[in-house]
Parts: sequence; structure tokens; C-alpha cells
Amino acid sequence: MPLESRHLKLGPLDNNTYVLTCPVTRQSAVLDAGFEPQRVIELVQREHLEVGWLLATHAHYDHVAGMLEVQQAVGGVFALHAAELPLLEAVNEQADMFDFPHVDVPAVGHYLTDGERVRVGEQELEAIFTPGHSPGHTAFRHGGTVWCADVIFNGSVGRTDLPGGSFETLVRSIHERLFTLPDDTRLLPGHGPSTTVGAERRNNPFVGEAAGLR
Ligand SMILES: [Zn+2]
Ligand SMILES: [Zn+2]
Repeated sequence: MPLESRHLKLGPLDNNTYVLTCPVTRQSAVLDAGFEPQRVIELVQREHLEVGWLLATHAHYDHVAGMLEVQQAVGGVFALHAAELPLLEAVNEQADMFDFPHVDVPAVGHYLTDGERVRVGEQELEAIFTPGHSPGHTAFRHGGTVWCADVIFNGSVGRTDLPGGSFETLVRSIHERLFTLPDDTRLLPGHGPSTTVGAERRNNPFVGEAAGLR
């Protein structure tokens, strides 16, 4: 039985927060919690989930601002890639840039590495290092689904003008780590609607065949 994926669309930037659950053990991973952490907590409690992980794809405010509140309510080890630490430490400078309220974030309990298998009950998520939007951005794959956060969106790509961003690196991450996956791989981004590897490889105006980059 594959992981169950529950989805919430939260906050002013339409962030997608996912709660991934092993259907046998109820062990769960919360993937990115920025705005409206109370709704994540309600979901976890209503469905009687056991949160083992709080996984951050990257340390932009809109992906980590709610992590401490979620952790204090339902637990979970906070994990992200070590290259995100400068952004995590600057979370309230990010808040000031966008006029969001200041927050505290949890202590990092685990540093993710490329190719690592993150155990969720009897299932696994594969960590895929996908820098470019931010220096330590990490996507997660389970079967034919990739939670790709802010690397690539349906018809767009993550911005690279924020500190630590690089368009060249972003393009390489997409071409070498995502477009090498089967065409029917589902991509679930950090904002906006889902898509597939095949659709973006063909039609994405920034990095697809339509952009003439490959
Ligand atoms: Zn971001
Ligand atoms: Zn984002």
C-alpha cells in the first residue's frame, strides 16, 4: 500500500502543505508548514495520525513558518538540507521583506542528504537534492509521485532572485533530476496545481522543449 497523501492549500501565497501517511502504521510526515499551522494540526488530530517527521523542502518563510507550532502540538523531527541553514536563520529577515509576522522555528533534528530514504512507517520517501530556487532545496519521491515544492510549477519555475538562488542551477536540477523521471511522474508543487514530468518537459516555457534549452 503506498503512502496516503493529504493536501491543504494554505495562506496568502496558496502554499501546498502535504501530510503523507503510511496506511498501515499511521506514521506520517508533514511536508512544509508555513501559514495556518492550526489547520495542519487539526488535520493530524482529526485523522489520528502519528507525526514522525516535519520535512522542509527548503527554508523560505512560507514553507517553515508554521513548523514550530505544528511540532509543539503533534511532535515530529524537523528535517531539512544543511545548505538551507542560512535561510532558516534569516527567517525573520524574510518575514520583514514580505511583511509577514516574526516566528520561531524548531531546532533542526536531522539534516537531509541527496538520495536518502526517509522512512515513514513501512514506506519510504527518496530525498532528491534540487538546488536553484534555494541552495539546499530538496524534493521527495514516492513511487510515481514527486513533491517538488518550488523547483518547478505547472507552466512555470521557482524564482531565483532571492538570496542563494541561481537560475543556471535550477535548470540543471530540473533537467538532470526531474526530467529524467518517467513522463507520467506526477509533480506536486509547493504552490498551485499539479502537473507531470512529460507535460513540463514538453511545454514548460522556461525549461521545457518549448524554451529551446534542450
Ligand atoms: Zn520558496
Ligand atoms: Zn514557496
